[in-house]
Parts: sequence; C-alpha cells; structure tokens
Amino acid sequence: MTVEQPLRILICSTPVGPLGSGVGGGVELTLHSLTLGLTELGHHVEVVAPAGSLHVGERLHQIDGNLQQSSQGAGRHAPIDIPTASVLANMWDFVRGHQHRFDVVLNLAYDWLPLYVAPFLRVPVAHLISMGSLTDAMDEAILGVHSIAPESIAVHSRAQADTFDGLADVRVLGSGISLERYDLQRTAARPAALGYVGRISPEKGIEDVAAVSARTGLPIRVWGLMQDRDYWNRIVAAHPSAELVYEGFLATDDLQAALGSCRGLLMTPKWVEAFGNVAIEALATGVPVIAYRRGGPAEIVADGTTGFLVEPDDVDGLVRAVDRLDGIDRATCREYVEEHYSAVAFARRAVLWLDAVVEARAPIDAI
Ligand code: UDP
Repeated sequence: MTVEQPLRILICSTPVGPLGSGVGGGVELTLHSLTLGLTELGHHVEVVAPAGSLHVGERLHQIDGNLQQSSQGAGRHAPIDIPTASVLANMWDFVRGHQHRFDVVLNLAYDWLPLYVAPFLRVPVAHLISMGSLTDAMDEAILGVHSIAPESIAVHSRAQADTFDGLADVRVLGSGISLERYDLQRTAARPAALGYVGRISPEKGIEDVAAVSARTGLPIRVWGLMQDRDYWNRIVAAHPSAELVYEGFLATDDLQAALGSCRGLLMTPKWVEAFGNVAIEALATGVPVIAYRRGGPAEIVADGTTGFLVEPDDVDGLVRAVDRLDGIDRATCREYVEEHYSAVAFARRAVLWLDAVVEARAPIDAI
C-alpha cells in the first residue's frame, strides 16, 4: 500500500449517541469532516454508528443496541462499564464481520473495548483519541495499545497528549471543518451579544461565561445540548444579573448562521479540552474567540489576531479581552481556518497517519 493509493476506510463512531444527537460532542463533527474530506481526496469511506444516526458518507451502517455512558465526570477510578446488548460491542462485531472489505478502521470512540480488541483483528485499527486522560482504566488501554503499536494512536492537540503519562511522541492531528457549511459574517449584529457553544456540563466552565455577562452587561447566547440541567440552574441562580439566553441545540447550518452574528465566542473550560471544534466553527464565521490558555483552544487561537488567550480562570482577563474585540479583523479569522483547519487539510493529515498505520501493521500480517 503506497500513500498515493485510495484507502478503503471504515470509520467507527462513538457509541454514546446517534450522529446528530449532540451527545457525542465534537466527535460527531470530527466524523463528518473526516468523511467529507477523505471522500473528496478520493478515498472510499463507510461509517458505522448507533441506530438513529443522521446520514453521512457513501454508506452508513446503523447498529442497534444500548448506548454507552459518556465518560466525562466518571471519576479517575471508574471501572469499565459496558451495558447488556451493547451498541459498542455490536459495532465491533460489525467490524469483525466486514474487516476484509477495508484497508483500515478508524476508531473515534473513547472506549476501552475497541482498544482491547484491535490487536485481535486482521484489519489495522487507527484510534483517534477524542479526550484527555480521564480514568485509570482508559489510560491503561490507550497506553497499552500505544506500547505495542505506537503509530496506531493519534490525538487532536499537544495539550491533550500531555494529559497522558507516556504519549509525548504521539501524532497530533488537529481537527477540521467543511468550510462550505460556514458563512463569513463580516460584521456582528447589533445589539451586541457574545456566544457560548457546547454541551451544558460542568467541565465547560459556563459559570465564568455568566460572570462575564454580569460584568460587561452583554447578553450571552448559548447553544448546546442540555446535559446537566441542575448545573445550568445553579449558574443562573448564582448570577442573577447575567443575561444567559439558552437557544437550544441546533443543527450545523442553523448554528453557524446564529453564531456568526456574535461579537465573540467565549471558551472557559475547566478541563483540558482536547481540541474545541467550536473554536474553529466560530472563526470560520468570522467570530473571534476568547479562550483560556488551557487545552486545545490555546493551540487554535492566535492571540491578538483571531481572538485572545486569557490566563485560566481569570474572569477579569476575560472582561478585558471582551473590551478589545473590536481590534480583531473578522475576515482574518476566517482565513486562518481556511489555511489550517479545512476538512481537506484535516483529511490529508489523517491519510498520512492511516498510511503509516497500514504500513506498520503489514509485517505482522506477514508472519
Ligand atoms: N454543537 C451543535 N449544535 C449546537 C451546539 C453545539 O452541533 O447547538 C456541536 C458543535 O458543532 C461541536 C460540538 O457540538 O461540534 C461540541 O464539540 P466540542 O469539540 O467543542 O466539545 P465536546 O462536546 O466534544 O467536549
């Protein structure tokens, strides 16, 4: 297999929810971008995902079964937990049965099972790890595969890699979006509003977004899956002078149109965000990003050019950055994404990786 040859790729989605549900967070967009980008480059892509998924790619295989619980907030010592009639197990049964039709399987699930079974399959498996270190059990699975097949693991950002003890040399892929789906809005709407996009969940640090609203008097338009309503209610109660306007979970077309009218996007995560797809989505619509200098967003935002990086947990710093938003050129934000984070650029990085995974696995097959 040479780099020039088209690959037959099976992409395995996350088992936490169907594509389009939002439960899979950034993984859903990553899968979409990779599928479009790889197809545009001439590769054959099929997708396997939980039943009820929105259609993507040439062929989507919908798999029944009970969904996996998301692992954010599970706690460091959480055991591996797989339900009966597991969709995750059923998806990997599908992989086993169809592996002969593919050159490589691209696993997007942050789950123990695919990491464990990969070495038993004949087809090489490439694991794109979507979150930083969360549990000892997942660390063991990821580092275990990395120790026997280092090339088969990749991550989204350097900061994400650094959360693991032993992935210093791992491949960093970034991410990407299909730019045709995002329109540049050259000016922000009036009256001005800031935006927050993401799951409503404690690791996202939405309390700091609320504090910015209270301090600046600017409303915050909020889009994302309501994963933790108690958390949301606590924030609203704790910041009575903040204006948080929850507008629901939108499909990408509607999200990008609404988001593009904002003066800026706030990203104040309390965890190490592995990448932060919403940062490149905002920039693609011309919206500058104000983010903590923590995790993936710190590697995306060019401080002073496409937004501002603020010391983690410094709300005063966020407020000062909001005051400087007028100094950011919105067209420059868009150009930055076109240069670094298009779906095709992302897919090219992925192909180099997948080729390396296939090459590395070849001698094992020959034994
Ligand atoms: N998203 C969406 N509609 C919304 C809000 C969010 O489709 O109304 C998507 C957004 O496009 C992004 C994902 O949710 O792809 C959030 O991903 P991110 O990488 O920012 O964070 P994660 O949820 O993976 O921690």
